[in-house]
Amino acid sequence: MSLLDPLTRLQEVDWIPSHRIAALHRLGLETLADLIRHHPRRYEDRRTFERFPSGSTASAVCLCGTVQSTRLQRFGGRSMLEAVLIEDSVLGTPLTLRWYQMPWVQKLLSSGDRLVVFGKTKEKNRRLLMEHPEFEVIEDEGAGSIHFDRITPVHPAGDGVPARLLREWIHRTLETVDCARLRALWPAHATELQSESVWKSLHFPKDFESGELARRHLVRDVFFGIQLVLAERRMEFRRSGGFSRPGNGSIWARLEAALPFRLTASQREVMAEISADMAGPHRMNRLLQGDVGSGKTLVALRAMVQAVESGWQAALMAPTQILAEQHYLNFRRLLDPLGVPVLLRTSHRREGPESGPDLFQASSMPAVVVGTHALLFESTGFERLGLVVIDEQHKFGVLQRTRLIERADAPDTLVMTATPIPRTISQTLYGDLDVSIIRERPSGRGRIVTARRDSSHHNAILDFLRGEFAAGRQAYIVCPLVEESEKLDVKAATAEAVKWRELVAPHAVGLVHGKLDAAQKEAVMRDFREGRLAALVSTTVIEVGVDVPNANVMLIEEAGRFGLSQLHQLRGRVGRGAAKSWCILLQDDPSPEALEKLSLMERTNDGFEIAEADLCLRGPGDLLGTAQTGLPALGPGDLLRDAELMLEARRAALDLLEADPGLEAPGHEHLKDFLAKNRSRAAAAAG
Ligand code: ADP
Ligand code: MG
Repeated sequence: MSLLDPLTRLQEVDWIPSHRIAALHRLGLETLADLIRHHPRRYEDRRTFERFPSGSTASAVCLCGTVQSTRLQRFGGRSMLEAVLIEDSVLGTPLTLRWYQMPWVQKLLSSGDRLVVFGKTKEKNRRLLMEHPEFEVIEDEGAGSIHFDRITPVHPAGDGVPARLLREWIHRTLETVDCARLRALWPAHATELQSESVWKSLHFPKDFESGELARRHLVRDVFFGIQLVLAERRMEFRRSGGFSRPGNGSIWARLEAALPFRLTASQREVMAEISADMAGPHRMNRLLQGDVGSGKTLVALRAMVQAVESGWQAALMAPTQILAEQHYLNFRRLLDPLGVPVLLRTSHRREGPESGPDLFQASSMPAVVVGTHALLFESTGFERLGLVVIDEQHKFGVLQRTRLIERADAPDTLVMTATPIPRTISQTLYGDLDVSIIRERPSGRGRIVTARRDSSHHNAILDFLRGEFAAGRQAYIVCPLVEESEKLDVKAATAEAVKWRELVAPHAVGLVHGKLDAAQKEAVMRDFREGRLAALVSTTVIEVGVDVPNANVMLIEEAGRFGLSQLHQLRGRVGRGAAKSWCILLQDDPSPEALEKLSLMERTNDGFEIAEADLCLRGPGDLLGTAQTGLPALGPGDLLRDAELMLEARRAALDLLEADPGLEAPGHEHLKDFLAKNRSRAAAAAG
């Protein structure tokens, strides 16, 4: 029998029933090669099974037993199906399996069936329970079975394609397909992926080690694909025009001389990188990373001033109104004396010095413009935009950034991130950008002490706050998150402000939340910045960027409900002046997970360490939404565990595109094809 071409479409294969084809397509599986690449979600060791546990288990266990009975109960519109599973030796405790609202499961189970189940067990009323387990009825048990007596793969399944069928088809595919004709993306590692034994090890490994080795082969290829997309984007951006904007240093020299502090060595270093990049004839596309309080704003200002010195406009886009306002005031303080026009553009407000917004619109006068992100899309009046700085925003998607590419004035871009990002993430999410990192924080800052407290410390905290206020210091008080609705959020925050006003009287307490209009928000922030308010009660709107150096206490209520990166951001609001600062994390009865977060906060102030821990806890999903990034899926890859493979893939992809920018070389056709497919997929996902 001759072997099949991996590109054979599934509907042409006679052993795949035609009524399953649509469901396979829904899983993204079109060809035999797709089936081969459909990697297991996990493995179950079905060579030997654990004994039934005698109580609750912390993690999922895989057990095997015989169905003794099933029973379906209905009450009102609800149903509960129970099946009792007994162990072969019958000595152990029986296990009760439970499904709610899934009466049809009963049809899949009969007494006497041998069943493999996977899930957590718990003990309830002296019964051992497993709710909504994954399960599989074992039909052909014994040596030589695909499903049993081996390390068994569990593939991502879907409606109409159970894991058991996928396993059979993948097994059959591996026997009938010519693996030597499989296409691998990464040329240097193609041979591994063209060997049947690697794929056999991925799907049906002899032992866990060989399964892991095979997984890494596949991950390499997937990561290479991601990096190829990024490398292409990077090249496209570079090719999209660009101007040299060298500046002459005259304005900056005067600005720097007027600063009340010296730049850190790290700030100087990244300023030099950015300056050289802008001076070059190509377009700058750069990411600026630095922990909270490391002084990114000044670095951005240096770049903006260079654009102005070169006769261009420079825009800074902030994620919130409050931040735009803060940057605007800050820049005016520094730039007014030097005669550089500074303008504020938000959807609520347009403001500028003598020149006036309309005059500016008509001309292409060099100026610094500050606005919210919406600015990008109503880009009127920017005829000579030389630099766009995007402040504090992961959520500002890659696809949005690419819209900047199309501008005729070909502005340089500088993206500043709110939170330090673990290297593998920044290499993926921002892999098309060059990176500058500020590695140190300005010296002469007070230490930040972080402490976990609960309501038993209420009076002590109150005394402490009164003492700080009496000494002229200020505090942020962050209200608990109310997830149900913004309206409830506002209500809770308002009540909170009333409470604190009573508690700390006669010291003044302000309130800021998302429902205030821009003018109200600005007024409160100004009062706080200028010291008329001792405390600022807020929802998380102050999370990013706010800079009031005299505030030295951050009190976070129900801190356990916030994410780690968010807590770190909030804490970053203090420790900005010379005074010692405090971050108080209030939480009663923390869950184990909350305790872990809060303890980490107490232990370290290193944003990179916190970002990695956050990634471990929450996974990269938040940061790496595929629709937003337009990148291929990570597949079996793990951004932390496989970090070094990502770096390797990045270097290789950059080298390959540099050597063959048009992918015209023989053997690169399929890469070109891959990129084209990904582009149309990304465009479709972006709408
Ligand atoms: P972030 O990196 O979090 O955006 P900012 O740019 O807001 O930080 O800077 C935090 C504070 O540090 C600001 O008040 C800023 O004026 C101050 N700052 C910046 N650079 C220095 C420096 N080299 N020495 C002392 N203070 C600095
Ligand atoms: Mg900032």
